[in-house]
Amino acid sequence: MARNLDPKCKQCRREGEKLFLKGERCFTPKCPIVKRNYPPGQHGLKGRPRLSGFGLQLREKQKVKRLYRLLEDQLRHYFESASQKTGNTAELFLQALELRLDNVLFRLGLAQSRDQARQLISHGHVFVNNRSVNLPSYALRIGEQVSIKPKSEGMKLFEPIKKTDEKRQMAKWLSFDAKALKGSVQYLPSLEELKQGIQTQLIVEYYSR
Ligand code: SF4
Repeated sequence: MARNLDPKCKQCRREGEKLFLKGERCFTPKCPIVKRNYPPGQHGLKGRPRLSGFGLQLREKQKVKRLYRLLEDQLRHYFESASQKTGNTAELFLQALELRLDNVLFRLGLAQSRDQARQLISHGHVFVNNRSVNLPSYALRIGEQVSIKPKSEGMKLFEPIKKTDEKRQMAKWLSFDAKALKGSVQYLPSLEELKQGIQTQLIVEYYSR
């Protein structure tokens, strides 16, 4: 399975914001975005160049690609299939990205990062509707239940999750039972719920060139 192996913190510094690619470290003062928020490379200290219209579109597309840990072709595929459906392309595009199994596992807090979620899935630790699914790109539907394989529930990684407050903040479109390590998709989130600072218009413009 091909994946993006570029250094994660450099990807955040390139985009100039936290993409939360490294789990716990992202919430500590050790995060390079706190200490060195300028682009990587020998010219980084000169600051960020002023971007043209295309440059802004490209950066936004790159940010989303890095955030969801996808490759160029995969992201383009998600956009093209969204643009072929009836409805708001930007909303359908973000919905498709958010409903990926690896993303939902991360949003539920069952993994500290999307990369870790992907590893848990491909190693067979994750069930969807009580059946093993080892495809990180699996597209969840409303009502489908994501859980941890019973044999894997004892993994150290899940111990603190079982003790967490049930009322912890979570996307409204997801429900989660921390003790049972189970969650599900309640409804399809709207564009407003999904944007998280993403300028979707720039991405639509990028792919519509
Ligand atoms: Fe990004 Fe996390 Fe690295 Fe900070 S620690 S730069 S948020 S990957």
